[in-house]
Amino acid sequence: CGIVGYIGSKDAKEVLLHGLEKLEYRGYDSAGIYVIREQNDGHLFKEKGRIAALRDKVDVSVEANAGIGHTRWATHGEPSVRNAHPHQSTSGRYTIVHNGVIENYQEVKDAYLEDVELVSETDTEIIVQLIAWFAENEGLDTLDAFKKTIVTLEGSYAIALIDKEDPDVVYAAKNKSPLLLGKGDGFNVICSDAMAMIKETNQFVELMDKEVAVVTKDSLSIENFSGDIIERNHYIAELDS
Ligand code: GLU
Repeated sequence: CGIVGYIGSKDAKEVLLHGLEKLEYRGYDSAGIYVIREQNDGHLFKEKGRIAALRDKVDVSVEANAGIGHTRWATHGEPSVRNAHPHQSTSGRYTIVHNGVIENYQEVKDAYLEDVELVSETDTEIIVQLIAWFAENEGLDTLDAFKKTIVTLEGSYAIALIDKEDPDVVYAAKNKSPLLLGKGDGFNVICSDAMAMIKETNQFVELMDKEVAVVTKDSLSIENFSGDIIERNHYIAELDS
C-alpha cells in the first residue's frame, strides 16, 4: 500500500523503517524491507502486522546504505510473511516492492514462467521473476529487463527494484499508482507519499506513468520506454517533518 526507497550514506534500514511508519496511516497488513551495502550482500526482513513488529525482526547489526521497503494491502494471496514484500527472483538477484494489481499476471505466468517455482501467491512475484527471466534468457541488462517487463504488464503499479549485483542503483517505475523521487545532497529517495521522506528532503520530482527512473546516491534520471531522457523540475513539498 506504500513504498519507500533510499540510496545514500545513512543507515538505510532506519530511513526505510521510519518512512514505513509515516505510511502506516494508509492501512496495511504486513511490511518488509530489503537493504544492501555491497554487491551480493543483501538482507531481507518481512513481518505480518505492525511496523513495530517488523522493527523487532530487523537485525540491528546489519549495515547498509541502500534499500527498499513496503507496506502491503493484500490483493492476491492472504496476508502472511511469505506473501509480504519485498519479493525476490529465484536466484535472489532481483528484489522488488510493488503497490497495485497486475491484471495479466496469469497470462504472463503461462507465457514465460511455467518452469519457475513460485514461492508466494502474489501477482507481484510474477514481476520480479519476469525481470530475471528476461535477464537470463534474453541476455538483457537490468534496465532493459525491467523496461521489457513493464511493457509486458497490464494493471496498476508503483515498483522499486534492486539488483544485488549492482547495489549502487535503485530502479523505479509506475502506472496509475503514485510514485515520487526525492532529491538530496549525496542521497536520493523514492516514496509513494512525500510524508514518508520529508524528514530526509523536501525536494520531490513526480514520476509519470510509463517512465522508468534510475536512482543512484548522486543522480536521478528519468526516461521513457523509448529511452528518451525526461527533464522535470522538482517541487518543494510543504509538510511538517
Ligand atoms: N497486489 C500486491 C499484493 O497483493 C500488492 C498489494 C499492495 O498494493 O500492497 O501483494
